[in-house]
Amino acid sequence: MSTHIASCAEAETRLQSYVDRVLTPAEVAQIEEHLLLCPPCARCYQLERDIRAQLKRVCDEPCPESLKVRLRNLCAECDCADAD
Ligand SMILES: [Zn+2]
Repeated sequence: MSTHIASCAEAETRLQSYVDRVLTPAEVAQIEEHLLLCPPCARCYQLERDIRAQLKRVCDEPCPESLKVRLRNLCAECDCADAD
């Protein structure tokens, strides 16, 4: 039995796992189906993927100080950062 993703909220909860590639092939197919049918979610996915790609690039290279500062500021806006 194939289950379809019923809502964007459901798609969103799986998007993270999709980007992380930890979904089963069936789940991947469901997400991809939704992304094809739903431009807002597709955009959200692209954004997510772009951010990952940027972060990966940052990790592969010595981090420029300006970027460190920007990331730190970004992080300061959410609750995950412990301020120095
Ligand atoms: Zn959607």
